[in-house]
Amino acid sequence: MNKVVDKLPKNMLGSEQLKKELNACVWSELIEPDAFEETWHAIMKRYGLANNDWFSSMFASRRFWVPAFFRDFPMSSLIKTTSLSESQNNFFKRYSKSRANLMKFYMNYNHALETQRSNSAKLEYYDSTKVPILRTELEIEKHASTIYSGSDYNAIQEVIVYACFSLSCATLGVSTNREIEVYNVKDKDSNSWTVTYSIGDDTYFCGCKKFERLDLLCSHIFCVLKYKFVKLIPEKLRGGRWLKSQFVKLIHGGFCDDQEIHLVVDKKKIAFKNLYALFIETTQSIEGNIDQINAFAAIMEEGKKQLLGEGVILSD
Ligand SMILES: [Zn+2]
Repeated sequence: MNKVVDKLPKNMLGSEQLKKELNACVWSELIEPDAFEETWHAIMKRYGLANNDWFSSMFASRRFWVPAFFRDFPMSSLIKTTSLSESQNNFFKRYSKSRANLMKFYMNYNHALETQRSNSAKLEYYDSTKVPILRTELEIEKHASTIYSGSDYNAIQEVIVYACFSLSCATLGVSTNREIEVYNVKDKDSNSWTVTYSIGDDTYFCGCKKFERLDLLCSHIFCVLKYKFVKLIPEKLRGGRWLKSQFVKLIHGGFCDDQEIHLVVDKKKIAFKNLYALFIETTQSIEGNIDQINAFAAIMEEGKKQLLGEGVILSD
């Protein structure tokens, strides 16, 4: 899409309207392939680009790059119009060179992994020390705050708030039988979506397929959960990759079978959290100093010997 400007005939370069229409058509994750094709052809016709070689070849290879064709694939954040995909690109660019030999690739690969692990440890530390601010009275939001990690909780919170307070998000119609419940949900752009709940296996499915694609719940399913007075996010809708790690989850509290959320105050866990915070804080502040790193490692080694004696094999 960055190349569009180079490929457009000169007399069309100034057409902001064309760029806007093209972007809206290409970057919509919410339309099916045939709707994409229809809109694309209409744009090409309207702007006299139907015989343009470059646009024709891009259309011919649409299956490989247009998000509408990836609606059923779990894509995490690889295809997204937001800065998330840019940061993914950035990450790969930083750690790869086109002419690197195998050795260099291997070293860069290790470096990239180490950086990811270190970032993950930092985020986990922030997550363990931050208490999220709730914006609704709903139990389901409280529950979300105990299971999702930092920025992903914010994303889910936006969806919950939208589903709860937006007048345009409404559950319009319900039809049920013994096996499935079908809900008709309208969103802010007046699109209507069908959310299906299979009673037998306790699963929800929404036509927008956001959950299948990103592992994140959409506002349409939340509308239905609210409508059904569901208090906890159903297990199958939690999505693995955005959850707090087991360690952080324990600190923020648990919930019991009676569908009420209780904050668990556990001295052992708090002490462990403080120890972990101390470790992360210390390692972060000595990061750039090899002498201090060696000294800290020696202190820890010594401490380990004192606590556990020599030759003790750690187990969990
Ligand atoms: Zn949806």
